Amino acid sequence: MNLIPPLTGFSTNHHEWFVEDISLTDIAKEFNTPTYVYSLEALTTAFMAYDKACFRKDGSRRANIHFAMKSNSNLAILDIFNRLGAGFDLVSAGELARVMQIGVNPKKCVFSGVGKSKSEIEYALTLGLKCFNVESIPELYRINQIAGQLGLTANISLRVNPDIDAKTHPYISTGLKDNKFGIAYEDVIPTYMIAQQMPHCKIKGVDCHIGSQITDTQPYIDALNRILGLITELQDLGITFEHLDIGGGLGIVYADESPPHITEFANTLLDHIEAKGFGHLEVIFEPGRSLVGNAGILLTEIEYLKPGETKNFCIVNAAMNDLMRPSMYEAYHAIVAVKSKENLPVRNYDVVGPVCESGDWLGRDRDLAVEPGDLLAILSAGAYGASMSSNYNSRGRAAEVIVNKAQAHLVRERESIADLFSKEHIIKPASNP
Ligand SMILES: *Cc1c(COP(=O)(O)O)cnc(C)c1O
Repeated sequence: MNLIPPLTGFSTNHHEWFVEDISLTDIAKEFNTPTYVYSLEALTTAFMAYDKACFRKDGSRRANIHFAMKSNSNLAILDIFNRLGAGFDLVSAGELARVMQIGVNPKKCVFSGVGKSKSEIEYALTLGLKCFNVESIPELYRINQIAGQLGLTANISLRVNPDIDAKTHPYISTGLKDNKFGIAYEDVIPTYMIAQQMPHCKIKGVDCHIGSQITDTQPYIDALNRILGLITELQDLGITFEHLDIGGGLGIVYADESPPHITEFANTLLDHIEAKGFGHLEVIFEPGRSLVGNAGILLTEIEYLKPGETKNFCIVNAAMNDLMRPSMYEAYHAIVAVKSKENLPVRNYDVVGPVCESGDWLGRDRDLAVEPGDLLAILSAGAYGASMSSNYNSRGRAAEVIVNKAQAHLVRERESIADLFSKEHIIKPASNP
């Protein structure tokens, strides 16, 4: 099986693969491998597909897009989305520092995550973010207390766990009772009542995020209906809202999935919210994967071919430390030869990396006509690729390049060997008096 997703920005003329107007061969010559390669056109197209749905008939804005930056937190990518008008959904002080570094307005940032530390809350309060997406009752108390100490007011929204039935929607992994995210559905109203009494918190919105790689709109509608019900009940109790954050999670095509088109998906949800009488609320989308997933590939070179009795291995210079999704989730990524070679026999390979783990594989059972030294492109690697990469086996992280038409920009240098242990220290032997 080697199903290839439909792509913007990446193409083949049946002999060779290109990113926009440059061949991937030329990218490898200039930047070496392994290298993440992104298409500016693909990034922009995905963003605009959301943005198109974000306006009312009278031209006023009804929704905003907050890029879930854990999916790809390279400064250049953040800067591209910032200039297109995005806000950001972030989950750590490190992510907050990244968006501050490129001059993002803190009022366009929401802070999610179940384990916000005291110093992270202080940092966010001092900057004055749009909102904390609060994920537990103790976190709410902590935010109120710190805001009080700093003489500030915290804008808050509760992340509701809508407890969507897993049997009908098996792909939802964060919107269920038995996972760590959000405030249990039945606790939401009492928690808002507590928040309303807090002197240093201001209720701004309601938030939810039901999972990732969701390829169907129905679970979103189910979650929305539950949340709109809560909003109605809370309004009757005198609590009002400015925004409704419906999270991210829209899936992309890796192989043969059929997720809804972004604009249709966004329009369906926004029209549903308007039809139910909540058109006055600012809606927030927090997409990650659907903005960047198919805008990037991982370019790698074949080191060795290793035929075996039951399996042939194609050993490449990228590994699980560069792209963790296959070993972590058994995720499928299409893998293509950058140049097709008709003179070579097609063989079936497991594409694996050099890391000393049997779990270090990038693709299984792939039919490829290749020889050592050839380049492979691992597709759909723009989301949760570079941002999840590590230094395991003391391997430097890959370079990252963004291509705009015929121009390639290095947006992250390859990590050097010296970078790997620059923070480490040897213990000096105790000196004998
Ligand atoms: C991860 C995450 C997202 C983005 O999810 P995708 O599946 O990449 O769209 C959005 N919101 C929150 C709170 C998240 O944790």
